[in-house]
Amino acid sequence: MQIQQLPTHVAAQIAAGEVIERPASVVKELVENSLDAGATNIAISIREGGVAEIRVADNGRGIAANELGLAFTHHATSKLSTVDDLETVSTLGFRGEALPSVAAVARVVCTTRPPDWEAGARIEFRYGTSVGERSEGCPPGTSVQVSDLFGALPARRKFLRSAAAETARIQEVVTRYALAQPEVRFTLTVDGREAINTPGSSRLQDAILSLYGSEVTGRMLPVSLGDGEVSVDGYVGAPDLNRRNRSYTTLLVNRRWVYDRSIYYAIEQAYQGTLPERRFPLAIVNISLPPEQVDVNSHPTKREVRFRQGDRLFSLVQRAVREALVAHAPARTATRSFAPTLAGSAAAPSAGPPRPSSPRDSAPVHDGMALSATALAPAEASLRDVLADLRVVGQIRQTYIVAEGASGMYLIDQHAAHERVVFDQIRRRTQEGERPSQPLLAPTTAELSAAQAVTLESNADLLAGYGFGLEPFGDRAWLVRALPAGLAARANPDPAAALCDLLDAVAVEQVVMEREDALAATVACHGSVRAGMTLAQEEMDALLRQLQATENPHSCPHGRPTVVHFTEYQLEREFGRR
Ligand code: ADP
Ligand code: MG
Repeated sequence: MQIQQLPTHVAAQIAAGEVIERPASVVKELVENSLDAGATNIAISIREGGVAEIRVADNGRGIAANELGLAFTHHATSKLSTVDDLETVSTLGFRGEALPSVAAVARVVCTTRPPDWEAGARIEFRYGTSVGERSEGCPPGTSVQVSDLFGALPARRKFLRSAAAETARIQEVVTRYALAQPEVRFTLTVDGREAINTPGSSRLQDAILSLYGSEVTGRMLPVSLGDGEVSVDGYVGAPDLNRRNRSYTTLLVNRRWVYDRSIYYAIEQAYQGTLPERRFPLAIVNISLPPEQVDVNSHPTKREVRFRQGDRLFSLVQRAVREALVAHAPARTATRSFAPTLAGSAAAPSAGPPRPSSPRDSAPVHDGMALSATALAPAEASLRDVLADLRVVGQIRQTYIVAEGASGMYLIDQHAAHERVVFDQIRRRTQEGERPSQPLLAPTTAELSAAQAVTLESNADLLAGYGFGLEPFGDRAWLVRALPAGLAARANPDPAAALCDLLDAVAVEQVVMEREDALAATVACHGSVRAGMTLAQEEMDALLRQLQATENPHSCPHGRPTVVHFTEYQLEREFGRR
């Protein structure tokens, strides 16, 4: 072949690959543009993993009609004009590559109107070719609709994963930016269903609450530490909020979502030994520093940055996170406090390093003292034996089982404990090829959302293996004929609704867990006794016996503790007997 200059549109499509790798990259670039435009409201909707359609609408400053065509050409940006500007750039975008790249690989319609303009403008592209521009009435702000992504590039399409997996990535991008910018209201609609809706109240806690729920929010500790012009702020989770991978650790640099191996390590180091092995913290950490101290132009998708003073940041972040953990763990600092003791060990405080307890672990007692309890650690060889000897005293709040044993008092989270029992049963039966399935007396039809249907189809093999009897029944409808035996009783009276719930939960779990584990954990969760259920004495006794027989009695499949221990020594100290 002779050397030849590639036709412009071919070159553009190749270059676009640098910026637009998958649907989530489109969402990231468009959201960054909306944020740079000062939007306070960003509405994102996607269909079929973003491949069929992505729409991002904002109420930002809009694009002047006479500049709209220009915005879609390469290297066209309003964010910097000289190389020196790059030193101090404070916008998320600056390369002028996103809009032309998106337009090169999809069908794109953009409508926009600056708030003080009377008329808006509309421009449309098909795989790099402009197919018209005209004025059009539209609300102030900008809306970009991207459809049939990579439609003309079958080779790129092949590299995309299932719609559920691409949806999960998009959800991750929106989550991270919603955490980065709590001033902005974000909504994400997935196949017509609202998946994310943050209030835009400016309070990070509110964003955390809407994204991660109240249980997590109640156990997040504020971080705030400054050193001259550099400061670190955010929230970190109490150690017991640990997760299976790093997708719940959000690192922001001047509110830009980035990945930095060393800073992630600094955050994890701060937890020094308080996290179980291969578990990761839940954290939102923002580093604020003068823009000239960070190079944001060192990575094709701006995912990574380079710091002038990496070492200083490492120790500042580590110190900030550690101080947050210590400050909110009275057991570490109070003089009359208890270091954690091992279950079954002598009734005396251990000499080992104290570890912070979360607010959830500690019940405030008179004069600000805290009684610190210890979740049973996996390393304790005698756990199993401890459980065997427990005598159930009763149930409180229809949630916890109170028990006494040789070395003190034990609280067992009934849901977490049962989840562990059911999870182990499911895994064991699957390995043994058993399918304890219970046919429904009257099969019911479940109408699924597109996302649920995708989750179901991509897990059909596993679902059948767990005892689900499901048959396609028209467009997105499935006939539920049988359920796993453990689930059947709890799925009543509405097995279809139970299936829909379960599929939603699987989609969420699959972001952070292996496919098999995610499904088993979800089925276990749905087939377990809930908090809020009254248990009979025999049921509680049986639950403890079953828990004792599991492989991993100390935590539920999501990593939460099943048992919390108060030693006799702790109790005696609290009551002034020692
Ligand atoms: P960059 O963000 O690097 O400048 P883009 O290709 O993403 O490059 O966007 C080009 C220009 O179009 C931006 O500099 C900005 O002026 C304008 N623009 C893009 N999206 C929006 C938006 N949502 N609201 C207002 N202006 C926008
Ligand atoms: Mg941009």
